[in-house]
Amino acid sequence: MQDDEQVQRMIEERESERAAERMREETAALGEALRVAGTPTFAQTAPTLTRRVVDTLQINIGLYCNQACNHCHVESSPLRTEAMSDELLDHVIELCREGAKEGTLRTLDITGGAPELHPGFRRVVQETSQLGIEVIDRCNLTVLMEPGQEDLADFLAEHKVRVVASLPCYSAENVDAQRGFGVFERSIAALQRLNDVGYGVDKSLALDLVYNPGGPFLPPPQEKLEVAYRTELGDLYGIVFTSLLALTNVPIKRYADRLIRRGELQAYMELLASSYNSATLSSVMCTYLLSVRHDGALFDCDFNAQIEMPMAGRLSLLDVSSLADERLLSRPVVTGNHCFACTAGAGSS
Ligand code: SF4
Ligand code: SF4
Repeated sequence: MQDDEQVQRMIEERESERAAERMREETAALGEALRVAGTPTFAQTAPTLTRRVVDTLQINIGLYCNQACNHCHVESSPLRTEAMSDELLDHVIELCREGAKEGTLRTLDITGGAPELHPGFRRVVQETSQLGIEVIDRCNLTVLMEPGQEDLADFLAEHKVRVVASLPCYSAENVDAQRGFGVFERSIAALQRLNDVGYGVDKSLALDLVYNPGGPFLPPPQEKLEVAYRTELGDLYGIVFTSLLALTNVPIKRYADRLIRRGELQAYMELLASSYNSATLSSVMCTYLLSVRHDGALFDCDFNAQIEMPMAGRLSLLDVSSLADERLLSRPVVTGNHCFACTAGAGSS
């Protein structure tokens, strides 16, 4: 038994060393692309960022996902087992209670993986949705069609959860190319289910769709794209939604690997750096959000969590008893060259 545990520990240590090595290579590749282009790094380009307030607590409650999309920056898949413990979830609820009482916390943003498939998801939603704060579910849509999730749309509606749903295009071909065969069809069925319970129709049930580019380019203007989404989804499938968010792909993890494999990283980094827009700095999420990884480690954003760039001070959620804790606000945000994705063009965060 002890031997089994030792072997398992050795495997985990080796995997974590390999992951750290890969991260170093990817980070170096981003820096090298900028060096080759003769372009300043993010640190040389942008001023130091600081968090003004924690008005949004983002929790990544687990990496298990029923999909394995090729643009996934958290590298989720049906094989991932990492999940937030009950102890951490209890602490999240407590911090939300306190933040809501103080009037500083506005939003609990729950992400994953497919967060709805974490056994503690519904408990967190039930407890926090009564606090007068907004609760967001980062939903991949197809989860609504999974066995056992037939009542998910009703559950989300009952607790007035804001659904932010990935749909990277209105064409089946593009969605299936990024997210897997058959994902578009199931996503459309899920959206219809959400509309049926009032999402996108009733003002208190917000349904936002998320677009991200299918290739190494910036998203087109959000307003134009939103019109196209409304027309295509409305005319063909009768789907309505609240708003469209156009996000830029961040060159880390699975997406960085893809760019490297295809020889596209150099051009993509040049595009991001040359599209730097200082006007986006006031709204990048690290200036108002705190990100909690499934193991409780704290980060300035979810992207930093995925590339092991902990916030200064290397705090854990359990070290913090208030979201107004000075240690969360008084330190500079940790940035890297991937931050050019948040500050390119109209911005994306
Ligand atoms: S649905 Fe989301 S979390 Fe799951 S693999 Fe795709 S991008 Fe990642
Ligand atoms: S990647 Fe994270 S730290 Fe960098 S600008 Fe974006 S939100 Fe801020």
